Amino acid sequence: MKIYGPVPSWRLGNSLGVDLVEPPKSYSKICSYDCLYCQLGHNAFRTIHPKHMDIAEHEFDVLKTKIKQTKPDYITFSGQGEPTLNLTLGRVADKIKQMTDIPLAVLTNSSLIPNKEVRRGLNKCDLVIAKIDAGTQKLFGKINQPCRGINLNNIVEGIKEIHTRVAIQTLLFSFKKLTNADEESIKSLIEIYKKINEVKPIEIFLGTAYRPSGSEKLMALPPERLEEIAGQINRETKIQVVYYKKNRPVVVGGERSKTEEKDVLDLLKRRPCTKEDLITRFGKGNLEEMIDDFVEKGQVSTRTKQGVMYYSCNNEKANL
Ligand code: SF4
Repeated sequence: MKIYGPVPSWRLGNSLGVDLVEPPKSYSKICSYDCLYCQLGHNAFRTIHPKHMDIAEHEFDVLKTKIKQTKPDYITFSGQGEPTLNLTLGRVADKIKQMTDIPLAVLTNSSLIPNKEVRRGLNKCDLVIAKIDAGTQKLFGKINQPCRGINLNNIVEGIKEIHTRVAIQTLLFSFKKLTNADEESIKSLIEIYKKINEVKPIEIFLGTAYRPSGSEKLMALPPERLEEIAGQINRETKIQVVYYKKNRPVVVGGERSKTEEKDVLDLLKRRPCTKEDLITRFGKGNLEEMIDDFVEKGQVSTRTKQGVMYYSCNNEKANL
């Protein structure tokens, strides 16, 4: 188990990474996909067979120290490959939960979600960020280059069975003549989002290929197009969409859910924040009304230091 960061994440704030998988020597990653936009290079050890990879006890001590030193907003399973390839994920999540109440997220490519044992592990986390980049098997094959036998429909059915909070993460881009951001592709993605959301309410994290990937031909969408697509998805699905604009997340539509209220209170419990801090972390949406409401109910109190107003959580009144 490798611990890295915390790294700033537009979805998770300060995120402390926990890597549960290690590629064999001379491979750059261990994964069931080889996405066109992957930043880990394309020298992949590809497998769809998850297994138990045990974690030594002293590695949890290292993690404990790191949590104390860095006080992250989230602890996130991610790293040099697909974290669900390690079936020990659930047990590790349980152990982390015993040492801290910082929420746990997992970034998964979704390929193994149809597997019950994998889902059991994911359900131990507070947030599953599940990748879906295409609405058809054909485009999925071209973009994510999955191992043989991985089926998009099975993934969709598996996601419906997850019990914890789920955000679907989609990366939109173009690569030479290929894109998942044209009208037809967006239409098929919308169908997939709707199908999942009917059974399992989700939110959507929409990104584009801003970060370097090793290929000059990989192009991010212009910000206006990303904004337009976020609006279209929200109009047609009524699902809340969060996308990244000018270094901050923007929330489109959707009343904030109880889960989001809890996320804001959880953060204020751990550290006093300014309104600006909270907007940077959660997006504007109706955040200001939410904070005013918390203050009115006495769940959050204010304190001014050197002319700057800070909010913090009153634990007894916030019912955490
Ligand atoms: S799922 Fe993640 S690690 Fe695997 S190939 Fe795609 S981007 Fe890379």
